[in-house]
Amino acid sequence: MGIESKYIWMDGKLVESENATVPFLSTALHYGLGVFEGIRCYNTNRGPAVFRLKEHMDRLVNSAKILGFNSLPYTSAELAEAAKETIRANGFKACYIRPLIYHHNRSSLGLNLDGGEARVGIAVWEWGRYLGDESIEKGVRANVSSFTRHHPNIAMTKAKITGNYANSVLAKTESVRLGFDEAIMLDPQGYVAECSGENIFVVRHGIIYTTQTAVILEGITRDALISLAKDLGYTVVEQLISRDQLYIADEVFVCGTAAEVVPVTEIDFRQIGDGVMEPVTRQIQQAFMAVISGSHPRSAEWLEYVNN
Ligand code: PMP
Repeated sequence: MGIESKYIWMDGKLVESENATVPFLSTALHYGLGVFEGIRCYNTNRGPAVFRLKEHMDRLVNSAKILGFNSLPYTSAELAEAAKETIRANGFKACYIRPLIYHHNRSSLGLNLDGGEARVGIAVWEWGRYLGDESIEKGVRANVSSFTRHHPNIAMTKAKITGNYANSVLAKTESVRLGFDEAIMLDPQGYVAECSGENIFVVRHGIIYTTQTAVILEGITRDALISLAKDLGYTVVEQLISRDQLYIADEVFVCGTAAEVVPVTEIDFRQIGDGVMEPVTRQIQQAFMAVISGSHPRSAEWLEYVNN
């Protein structure tokens, strides 16, 4: 399964995927001046449905605002419609959705955002779980990265800015080369921040902990899992988490649109719990799976049906 699709939506119209190109002299390519989203569409009894489409498109527009775009050619609601149109055109039942707003300046490769324009593309393709289809049952092995997560006044951590992701690529590549599946990154003060592409949760003595939002991406899956955990009667505490609190946790799990809900069974060669998926993680994962299949009470709130 590659990143193939028949059509990509480019600046208001669907084009054949091979024609969805960006000029070489684009500031987006040279300086990482783009903002993007990762969204999933799931196959349900009522046809394809997108998980929290509005929240994702709102975050995209906010990312553009954070980067400094003063105006965009499309609203969040128009982008949501365009995403659904792209899914329908490609005929996918379940897929990953990648909208990207990028900066392009026809007359300059200077570093000032003003003077250029915002261009928009939306691609969709069929994509299995990011950390492997078996990861959601078997779990993954992680290391604490030698790379620090962004300082919030160096790279804007609430924005999915393309350039920010060089930091994630450094960490992820190092982890995989070391034989791990994913990197856990510490913030500039040394507290746990997030993974290269997921947020992180710790369970200890029946309480669920997750990091505060100040230095992390405000994950939409994270937000959903907090609600689901509270629905299940758990206390969820957002607080600073240290590296050694990971080591002595009863359970650790990570979550994101691409990865979904994945147990972490080992960190830095230390087994977490019994080294298997533990009960709290399982319960939350099952609730999430029910939501995305359309069979959970919260499905109505969080799923947007593509063919309606
Ligand atoms: N942190 C980072 C750095 C990410 O790239 C992602 C993926 N978007 C997440 C957390 C999880 O966010 P979400 O649940 O909204 O996909």
